[in-house]
Amino acid sequence: MNNTREVEAVVIGAGQAGLAGAFHLRRAGFEPDRDFVVLDHSPGPGGAWQFRWPSLTYGKVHGMHALPGMELTDADPARPSAEVISDYFDRYERTFDLRVRRPVDVRAVREGSGGRLLVETSDGMWSTRALINATGTWDRPFWPRYPGQETFRGQQLHTARYPGPEEFAGQRVVVVGGGASGTQHLLEIAAYAAATTWVTRRPPVFREGPFDENAGRAAVALVEERVRQGLPPRSVVSVTGLPLNDAIRQGIEDGVLDRPADVRPRHAHRGGLERWPACRCRRHPLGHRLPARRRPPRPAAAARAGRWHPYRGHARGRRPSDPPRRLRTVGQHDRSEPGRPRGRT
Ligand SMILES: Cc1cc2nc3c(=O)[nH]c(=O)nc-3n(C[C@H](O)[C@H](O)[C@H](O)COP(=O)(O)OP(=O)(O)OC[C@H]3O[C@@H](n4cnc5c(N)ncnc54)[C@H](O)[C@@H]3O)c2cc1C
Repeated sequence: MNNTREVEAVVIGAGQAGLAGAFHLRRAGFEPDRDFVVLDHSPGPGGAWQFRWPSLTYGKVHGMHALPGMELTDADPARPSAEVISDYFDRYERTFDLRVRRPVDVRAVREGSGGRLLVETSDGMWSTRALINATGTWDRPFWPRYPGQETFRGQQLHTARYPGPEEFAGQRVVVVGGGASGTQHLLEIAAYAAATTWVTRRPPVFREGPFDENAGRAAVALVEERVRQGLPPRSVVSVTGLPLNDAIRQGIEDGVLDRPADVRPRHAHRGGLERWPACRCRRHPLGHRLPARRRPPRPAAAARAGRWHPYRGHARGRRPSDPPRRLRTVGQHDRSEPGRPRGRT
């Protein structure tokens, strides 16, 4: 018996991208369940947001979670963003009757007949004309390669498994990454750790003033300009900047978020640092499962073509023969000398 169900579109993932896609399908006249389905393997609404650490309160996020057609208003800034945004996404799904099917794990996407795609899931098979692959980055976070990483004896963590700052009490911690998560981790961890070091590829760019609608449009325009040229998008903070709020100002004053030094250690593991939360990056959880001709280009091919590829954001635009990028230490903070940045190495 053939239990394959036929639809016009399958949306994989009910995060911000998947819900926005489903909203626009509805607006174009497609009916959920009849014409399209949204499949998500997480336990509840919220996409990646439902997994954010409790200390990431709503007041700390930079507000780019908005969904089309329904704003999030009057949220309590002291509430964990995992709760606020999951509630918002939940309301959104119900308001627009998107009928997200969960937990449904998409295991593979294959070529079907007549130009259709076969979507193999934990809840049976779907045949579809179109696929929106909105699986996000959370499930398979990107771990950059650093020389000596294999022999580093301390613990290495990724933001996706950030346990909160208490876990770092009394330790020396390197935070890699100059985005919102990196700075938030640093500010929190510095209050508990023996010492912190901040490492980024480029000097951080701080932004004065609110990130309002115009600033949002300008940021999106910058991304669009690059993508339309076939260039890889840069990091989020390279277009939004890091908000110079009270916490960040305090961090700079305390030396936790020191400004850049011209130091680029080749081996970031030297010095016996104990914990090493890695920065996050784009990666496509389902990329490898798509039929070959629909797959995003492999890193080397993308690099040769000078295009971004979703597997390894850090290799973007580099030729395969380029030497590995060096890390740049931008600040060290030793709790034994409160208020003063430690000498840079
Ligand atoms: C650590 C971190 C902190 C961030 N902080 C902020 C912030 O402060 N402010 C901000 O605006 N943005 C922030 N972002 C960015 C924001 O999370 C993302 O831009 C947004 O979540 C991306 O939405 P998405 O829909 O692409 O992916 P996601 O939200 O990750 O949703 C993807 C969905 O796909 C589902 N899925 C994945 N694979 C499968 C599969 N095989 N089968 C079925 N379902 C699947 C997942 O369950 C998930 O629900 C942060 C991102 C990270 C990683």
